[in-house]
Amino acid sequence: MDKLTVRDFDPQGKRILVRVDFNVPIEDGQVKDDTRIRAAIPTIEYLARRGAVVILMSHLGRPNGKVIESARLRPVAERLSRLLGIRVPCTGDALGLGTQDALARLKPGQVILLENLRFHAAEEADDPEFAKALAGYADVYVNDAFGTAHRAHASTVGVAKLLPAYAGLLMEKEIANLSGLLESPKRPFAAIIGGAKVSGKIKVLEHLMDKVDTFVIGGGMANTFLVAKGHTVGKSLLEKDRVEDATRILEAAEAKGIQVLLPTEVVVAKEITRGAEHKVVPVHKVPNSWSIVDVAPSSMETFMAALDAARTVVWNGPLGVFEVPTFGDGTRAMARYLAGRARDGITVVVGGGDSVAAVEELKLAESFTHVSTGGGASLEFLEGRELPGIAILQDRPAAVGAGKAAK
Ligand code: ADP
Ligand code: MG
Repeated sequence: MDKLTVRDFDPQGKRILVRVDFNVPIEDGQVKDDTRIRAAIPTIEYLARRGAVVILMSHLGRPNGKVIESARLRPVAERLSRLLGIRVPCTGDALGLGTQDALARLKPGQVILLENLRFHAAEEADDPEFAKALAGYADVYVNDAFGTAHRAHASTVGVAKLLPAYAGLLMEKEIANLSGLLESPKRPFAAIIGGAKVSGKIKVLEHLMDKVDTFVIGGGMANTFLVAKGHTVGKSLLEKDRVEDATRILEAAEAKGIQVLLPTEVVVAKEITRGAEHKVVPVHKVPNSWSIVDVAPSSMETFMAALDAARTVVWNGPLGVFEVPTFGDGTRAMARYLAGRARDGITVVVGGGDSVAAVEELKLAESFTHVSTGGGASLEFLEGRELPGIAILQDRPAAVGAGKAAK
């Protein structure tokens, strides 16, 4: 998947419409976490410094086609202005004469942010008229919003059909790192899959089945696998209707000689709340009215010993109910261990909203090879699905003679 990027054209004097993912948490009119804004800076600076007029567009939250004051992008524009060191105004609407006027007055090197695209239902409906209005603002389209690339919306697909469409630098980095895992991982390659539910991750497990040497399974989804292996899990989160899927995955892995590691000891709690009574038990002794909330230290040791051999690791999904700090030991231990491995030079990629949040909470993100900015998008990528917002971008033409050289 080789896409043309912002480096493949001359931005000088061009009006460039850039889809960014500024869907950030906002509280009391303040941006609470600006990770996604900072992630878009390289592309914005690259274009602005080369004399382009940069027109940014994003969604925020789920206003479902209505104007919602708390979903306005103005706090984002303020934070962005500070990060860029230039004033970035925010229009009052993505459409309209006022917006057209403001855009017409922009000079090369200036940056503006359109108001929340999802104030118009036409955005999520991929309405052709809405896409046409947006495309009318610019000469070139750039998509840097990896986090929304799995959605076929007007700003991710509609506009890309109407303008020359390129990948931004963040998009390029996401594609390179995630496709690197699927196409050419250094072996042994291990996948650590956790999180709440098997149902959300079956396709990832199935797609990775042909690629990995080791699966480490933790989190709530491990419970369904434990039941597939004949254990009982008390009051733990369990998807009864997925036990068969779990059995099938275990059998397929065995047939392929893939090592599958499940916890053999777990932390169980009476309630899934802070301060609740909890203890470590072997997986065949989970008390009836208790819930599995974390992987026990002994099993963490086993996991890490197995991962010591890996040259490539992908991690998706926390290993326990890490939102309750007492039940986050396994997840935090894994984050620290993997950060250390990445610092030693092996490839470690983290994807998934909650696993990324766990890594960021520990301020370890910088240590990893790559921490994906897309939750759902990175999951779909790992499922091997084609993301519509990426598919629509221009392909790099195959180099002349490359076929011959390969022979
Ligand atoms: P990601 O966003 O990284 O892909 P998921 O959304 O699949 O991860 O899962 C994250 C959720 O899984 C967290 O809210 C966490 O509390 C939950 N979880 C992890 N382990 C357990 C468990 N043993 N029981 C219930 N929920 C769990
Ligand atoms: Mg999640």
